[in-house]
Amino acid sequence: MNSIHFMQQLARMPFQKLIRHLLFLFLAFTATDAAAQDRRSEKIEWIDVHVHPMARRGGDYAAAFAAAIAVMDEAGIRKMVLLPPPQVRGNQMFDFETLVAAVQAESARFGFLGGGGSLNVMIHESVKDGGVSEALRKRFEDRANQILAAGAAGFGEIAVHHLALRPGHPYESVPADHPLLLALADIAARHDAMLDLHFDPVAHDSRIPTWGSSFDNPAELRANLPAFERLLEHNRKARVVWAHAGSDMLGFWTPELSRRLLARHVNLYMSLRVDFGRAPQNHPVDRAGRLKPDWLKLFAEFPDRFVIGGDQFIFAPGPGGLPGFAQRAPVVREKTRALLEQLPPELAQKIGIENAIRLYRLKM
Ligand SMILES: [Zn+2]
Repeated sequence: MNSIHFMQQLARMPFQKLIRHLLFLFLAFTATDAAAQDRRSEKIEWIDVHVHPMARRGGDYAAAFAAAIAVMDEAGIRKMVLLPPPQVRGNQMFDFETLVAAVQAESARFGFLGGGGSLNVMIHESVKDGGVSEALRKRFEDRANQILAAGAAGFGEIAVHHLALRPGHPYESVPADHPLLLALADIAARHDAMLDLHFDPVAHDSRIPTWGSSFDNPAELRANLPAFERLLEHNRKARVVWAHAGSDMLGFWTPELSRRLLARHVNLYMSLRVDFGRAPQNHPVDRAGRLKPDWLKLFAEFPDRFVIGGDQFIFAPGPGGLPGFAQRAPVVREKTRALLEQLPPELAQKIGIENAIRLYRLKM
C-alpha cells in the first residue's frame, strides 16, 4: 500500500478505530525497535573449558580463583573448567587437589579436570625410563580413578606433543598411542569423562622453524598424526578434546586437516583458542578480527564438535603486572567474543555453551 492510500484509509476510519489502529502501529514499531536494541546490547556469553589458574609466589591459589570469577563477570563467561597445565617434574607443580576447594565453593562457576600435574608426569617419565612397568601402570590407573572420584569431568591437560614457546617452557613428546594414553582413554570411556590433549600436529617429518629453535625444542620434528589416529580409534567411547584449535604453530593444523579428522573420528572434539600463534594462515579470524569463510564452513559442518578453550592463564592482580602467558588472556577473550558474534546465533550457542555443558556434564 502506498502512503497516500494509507493516509486516505486512516482519514476514513471512525475516531475510536483510528486511535486503536495508531496505538497498534506505535506499539508494533517500538516493540520491534526494542527487540533489535536488546539483541544488539545482549552480551555474548560462553563457557571456557580450558583455563589455568596460576598462583603467584607463595602459592596463593585462592587469589587466582577470585581473579577468575572477576574475569568471568567482566567478560560474560558463564563458567570455567579449570585444569593444571601439562607439567614435567619441577618445583612449582600442582594438580587437581589445588582446584577442588575452589570448585566446591563455587560449583556454579567452576568445573575441573585433573592429571596435568601427575598423570602427565608419569607418561613422560615412562618414556625416559624406557617402558611401563606393572607397578607404574597400577599407580597411573589408581591416580586416574582418584581424579574422577574427586568429581573431575575428565583428564587434562595431557601433552602428547607440546612445543616450547618461550624460555623455560618444556618440550614434551610421546607417541599418542603410548600404553598409558590408551589406558587413560579406556578409563575416560568407562566413566564418560573427557580427555584434554595438547597435541601440536606434525603432518610430515620437518625441521623446527627458526622461531622454535631458540627454545627447548629438538631440531627435527617427527610426523605424529598416525599415532594420534590410533589413539582415537582405540576406544570410540573415549571423548578426546584436542586443545588449542585455531592457534596453529607449525602450519599443519589446517581447516582441511580438522575436517578430515573430525569426519573420520566421531569421538574427536576441538577446543578453540582464538589467538595468533605462529601460523596465522590457519587461524579462524584474520588480523582485522574477521571470521574466515573456510572456518565458518567447518563449524557449520560439525556444530556439535567445537567448544571454547581459551587457554587463559589467570593470576591474581599483583606487582609487576601479569606474568608470561597471562598477558595474552584479555586478547584471547576479545577475539573469542568477536568470533562468537560473527557466528549464526544457534551456532554461537552450541559452540559457546551447549556443547560444553553436554560434553563436560556441567551443572549450570
Ligand atoms: Zn596446552
